[in-house]
Amino acid sequence: MKQVLLLAGDGIGPEIMAQAKKVLALLRAHGLALNVLEGNIGGAGVDSEGVPYPESTRALVAQADAVLLACVGGKKWDNLPRDLRPEQGLLAIRADLGVFANLRPVKAISALSEQSSLKKELIEGLDLLIVRELTGDIYFGQPRGIEMQEGERIGFNTMRYSETEIRRIAKVAFEAARARNKSVCSIDKMNVLECSQLWREVVQAVSADYPDVRLTHMLVDNAAMQLIRQPKAFDVLLTGNLFGDILSDEASMLTGSIGLLPSASVREDGVGLYEPIHGSAPDIAGQNKANPLAMILSVGMMLRYSLEQPLLCEKIEQAVEAVINQGLRTADIAQKGQEIATTDEMGEAVCAQLQQLLAL
Ligand code: NAD
Repeated sequence: MKQVLLLAGDGIGPEIMAQAKKVLALLRAHGLALNVLEGNIGGAGVDSEGVPYPESTRALVAQADAVLLACVGGKKWDNLPRDLRPEQGLLAIRADLGVFANLRPVKAISALSEQSSLKKELIEGLDLLIVRELTGDIYFGQPRGIEMQEGERIGFNTMRYSETEIRRIAKVAFEAARARNKSVCSIDKMNVLECSQLWREVVQAVSADYPDVRLTHMLVDNAAMQLIRQPKAFDVLLTGNLFGDILSDEASMLTGSIGLLPSASVREDGVGLYEPIHGSAPDIAGQNKANPLAMILSVGMMLRYSLEQPLLCEKIEQAVEAVINQGLRTADIAQKGQEIATTDEMGEAVCAQLQQLLAL
């Protein structure tokens, strides 16, 4: 039986995780075989065992096929030494799992297209996926540092990718495109960077194994423009770590609210870490105000990428869209004058829709 580890973390984490648990309970009641474990991470790890990534959590991670994580961080732990800060728990679990491929879908929900800062017609029907390499590039390349040279300080980092690293992330992008609209746009800066030149050559070579998927290349500066000029032209965007960091945050703004966007980080054997892209929202924590939809959509991604249940993922996406089409809004996605739903009400409404979809 598949093992799923739930890590609620801090701030709004426990409130939104409670909604994810309701969804999982419903799916299990409908026959999904799943063993659910729970552990602490972030500030909750510091409070319970003195560190943001406790040994007890590490042991549970080793048994898990998928980890569902809400969010970490908060004022209470802000003055701790760097290695005890909640965010270190995130870096530690990602490194421990060895998840090298970050997948971020950006899908517009038409009833919310007014909320985007772009024109409605540019957003309606938008459905793209960013596949970002997560464990290499300039963030990890050596040498790095700040040194004194000729009487002044010089800061330097190294952009570095091996053929193996490029090949394995490219495969993830091509496989994902196969299950979507069969188009990959690979992002680089090959006009000035040797690292990008290698990136382009290897991605091109991998594409020979995917004759059914169209491959295009785009320089990162142009991609930043095209994402807001005609985002619907993209299907799968394949990027390295640095370019993907910037482009995925830009893309996340296309749909309007941070409370709607899930993410997945996976490795070759399908084990993955699933989390909303937002933080612990300390300003609204404990008030039953948080939007649980990014968390619930993260459950969907977990079903698709680690638990081999793509149809259940689709049903969760349909249930979320139906609830929004019915007019239910948490404060972050409400227009002036609209009635505000609580975190619990939103979670329960999604479950009610899902229940109907599962009965079909
Ligand atoms: P944040 O994402 O927590 O919040 C930014 C704004 O968005 C806030 O106004 C917040 O209320 C709102 N928001 C976020 N998620 C929401 C949701 N689900 N529903 C409704 N509104 C939502 O970012 P921040 O304020 O910069 O950081 C707060 C804490 O979270 C910090 O401690 C930071 O280090 C941490 N953080 C954690 C993660 C993570 O766990 N992956 C990511 C980013 C920040």
